[in-house]
Amino acid sequence: MTDAAYRGRFAPSPSGPLHFGSLLAAVGSFLDARSRGGEWLLRMEDLDPPREVPGAADNILHTLEAFGLYWDGEVTYQSHRHALYREALDRLEQMGQTYPCGCTRREIRAHVGSDGAKRIYPGTCRDGLPPGRTARSVRLRVPDIEISFDDRVQGAISEWLPEQSGDFILLRADGLFAYQLAVVVDDADQGITDIVRGTDLLDSTCQQITLQQALGHSTPRYLHLPMVVNERGQKLSKQTHARAVTTDHAVATLCSVLRALGQPLTDEAADCNLADFWERAVNSWQAEQIPRAQMITER
Ligand SMILES: [Zn+2]
Repeated sequence: MTDAAYRGRFAPSPSGPLHFGSLLAAVGSFLDARSRGGEWLLRMEDLDPPREVPGAADNILHTLEAFGLYWDGEVTYQSHRHALYREALDRLEQMGQTYPCGCTRREIRAHVGSDGAKRIYPGTCRDGLPPGRTARSVRLRVPDIEISFDDRVQGAISEWLPEQSGDFILLRADGLFAYQLAVVVDDADQGITDIVRGTDLLDSTCQQITLQQALGHSTPRYLHLPMVVNERGQKLSKQTHARAVTTDHAVATLCSVLRALGQPLTDEAADCNLADFWERAVNSWQAEQIPRAQMITER
């Protein structure tokens, strides 16, 4: 099946080199797009300078190329797109959907306690800043509704916004635009129809749909791939000392990725060159074979 209207993307943050988990997200989104004859864009999510590692963005691009993961068009960098985020924030402000918040992280933590997995803002500044407080951040006034969507792998997901999300941050106290705002603005601006990414972002999806609705954008289709964890159950990341993928045995590494994604793989696949490997992988891609798990362990 080809679908010329399909437009997907891979959106790494340059906080370190690609590891097995981020390569899996790249491969999953690439194959889903290419198997439909769609486009695959690359967006560098370099919104948070303190978390960036110098050289990581270029390193990621070179690694993708070494694996034969070629993207369409120019790479976009979130750091160059602040004007778009500002415009969206202004629009939400004008519609009365935002408010300034004067709370510190410590105050919110103290209010919520440390047991909850997800910290829900208690709404302290919703009806105006308490006397003597100055605005630190800007929050979205979330509507009193349930958001639901049908994930292509994870199934039906829903979230009651006031209880499971709360009024979330759009502009951080350090002056940086929040990830949720930037992603929604970029996906709409780039005409993304399909978002294929790891389940580490499943929790963000209902907030992103809330913002899409507030800004009048359509909601893309979602497919959340299992997140790769180490033997201790931790998400692979720089913080958990995930090994960078090496490109020395690119096809063998890609075969491991396809196996983790539940894809049918013939014995000859491992002996292919990269071009042949991708041709086979694109032709045999079956999204419905992806394990319906939120986590898989790196083998
Ligand atoms: Zn507040």
